[in-house]
Amino acid sequence: MQSAPLETRVFHHKGQAIPYCLRRSRRATRVRLEVKPDEGVVLTIPFRGHPDDGHLFLQRHAAWLNGQLKRQAAIAAQWPRRWPYGTTLPYRGVHLPVEVRSGQPANVQVQSGSLTVHVKPIETAVDAARRALRSWYMAEAERFCLEAVRQWADAMKVEWKGFSIGRGLTRWGSCSPAGSLRFNYRLIMAPQTVLDYVVVHELAHRRQMNHSPAFWNEVSRHFPEFRQARRWLSTFGPYLNV
Ligand SMILES: [Zn+2]
Repeated sequence: MQSAPLETRVFHHKGQAIPYCLRRSRRATRVRLEVKPDEGVVLTIPFRGHPDDGHLFLQRHAAWLNGQLKRQAAIAAQWPRRWPYGTTLPYRGVHLPVEVRSGQPANVQVQSGSLTVHVKPIETAVDAARRALRSWYMAEAERFCLEAVRQWADAMKVEWKGFSIGRGLTRWGSCSPAGSLRFNYRLIMAPQTVLDYVVVHELAHRRQMNHSPAFWNEVSRHFPEFRQARRWLSTFGPYLNV
């Protein structure tokens, strides 16, 4: 266990009460403040740190925090709360209702516009359903990303050597100097155009192993609407998760 259970507190700033979760972490070496989709404001302090240090940190960063909360409220208005905090999960850009049922084998099916998850009756429903959903998303990501890689590599006339889908990646995709492509499984939650953009981006690295103007020229030659896709990812990317 790296983190102690969350503790809920309230921070008062200019007549506004902002609830936040205080977390102690053995790994944290300094105070960290995050505004997370669904979880809200999370303040992490080192395990032996004092909550007052956290409070001072909040006071110093109050303006930043307010800006983040406003931004998040605007995004949340366009994006439903995701399961298990809400009722839907995105799949290829569409928010599908999630239904958890007991049954075996554990699997996920898209049935009449819903994601139906079957889990063993004895398991904790949310954890088991989350595991089943992640493996299903991994498999779907593999299928659609590979298809996109084949099509775009053909259109762009570039070669690639390896392909894999990763979990726990901080980036959306990567391309090694040897031509090995790797994609984040969470891309399968985004619309197809966003997935296509990431594929084109990584394949363009087969021509330019950098982010120089020449690289962006290469991207825009094949995918002129790349700016919209990048903007979409920076706005909604943090919400693509289960
Ligand atoms: Zn890149």
